[in-house]
Amino acid sequence: MPDVFAELVGQDDAVATLRRAAASAAAVLRAAHLPAPATADDPDDDLAALAEADEVDGGTATTVDPGAGMTHAWIFTGPPGSGRSVAARAFAAALQCVHGTGCGTCPGCHTTLTGTHADVRLVAPEGLSIGVGEMRALVLRAASTPSGGRWQVVIIEDADRLTEAAGNALLKAVEEPPPRTVFLLCAPSTHPEDVSVTIRSRCRVVPLRQPSAAAVADVLVARDGIAPDVAQWAAAAAQGHVGRARRLARDPEARQRRDAVLAVPRRLTGVGTALDAASALIEAAEAEAAASVAESDAAERAALQTALGAGGTGRGAAGATRGSAGQLKDLEKRQKSRATRAQRDALDRALVDLAGFYRDALTSALRAPVAPVHTDTAALAEAGGQKWAPEGALRRLEAVLECRAAIEANVKPRIAVEAMMLSLWRG
Ligand SMILES: [Zn+2]
Repeated sequence: MPDVFAELVGQDDAVATLRRAAASAAAVLRAAHLPAPATADDPDDDLAALAEADEVDGGTATTVDPGAGMTHAWIFTGPPGSGRSVAARAFAAALQCVHGTGCGTCPGCHTTLTGTHADVRLVAPEGLSIGVGEMRALVLRAASTPSGGRWQVVIIEDADRLTEAAGNALLKAVEEPPPRTVFLLCAPSTHPEDVSVTIRSRCRVVPLRQPSAAAVADVLVARDGIAPDVAQWAAAAAQGHVGRARRLARDPEARQRRDAVLAVPRRLTGVGTALDAASALIEAAEAEAAASVAESDAAERAALQTALGAGGTGRGAAGATRGSAGQLKDLEKRQKSRATRAQRDALDRALVDLAGFYRDALTSALRAPVAPVHTDTAALAEAGGQKWAPEGALRRLEAVLECRAAIEANVKPRIAVEAMMLSLWRG
């Protein structure tokens, strides 16, 4: 039976660290159920008690490496698709596991992985940032005693999207954590732009690496039953992003969108076609995003209207309708923010594909002994590399990366993409 860490592809070091920590956390809980050790000054602080118990225990076979033990705050870093949130959820499950350290089948593991465990909270920003209101409410709830008698776990996906005020609210909780509360943050890196230096200094970092194409392909074959040749192509094209590889292997529409993006380089023949290509890229991202949020938008709206008694004729229905306008407006605001985020994510995926093409052109021009990202456009990239020489291929690759950075820095996507297309055409 696969345990909770089975979904983490190519992350052996991180998994070993997390298993040791989960074992250490389980030891804390076992110790808490025994009479308090005489050396512990503050029996409430289980982690402090464990640290002291370890010291007393020194030299025996059961000694836990001090660096491998449990701690209150963790940051999972790594490139997109490396499995930051998968790792955080798996570790949360291991902490709630009632049989061991993440068996994958007990109620603790199961409810954590399906998102229904009472002591595991997940914050995943749907908009472009996580606000202070949301963070304060979370910190408050995280301070309560775990109802299951184990740990209160708070997972913050995209911790790099915390507003400054939200970061400060979180910092207070991380600095003085309640004894049984564990914070699991996910961020691209520990660069100060992603995570504040003060929060970073309170956390243990678990770096995840970009899994190799071979490791991703193995998972697609073994776990998803995808044919080996399709799995190898999708794993290479997805550049180490497991979820993206799975989508490319399974979803014909995702493949079509990728084909359209990779057709861009050969269509850039003038200013007009460059601007047309920019429009097409933006509109495709908008359409993809609209399709991805349409269903949840409609469901949320219907649920809110039902809750507000829209269409009701009983006493109080008129008053409810008057008060509901504000709530509907709030919902629309949240949905608009989520749609913007979905558009940016879709556009970013397209830009990563495009960057892969120019990277292939560059490595081909340099005759570098590495496999192409996009095997299906490798011949085209090679022709481009010969025509442009390494310098020209590098300038084009940089134009794509600059476009990503500009959009991340809040330049209007259309302006950034038009500038990129013109650079790609001019070379
Ligand atoms: Zn379990």
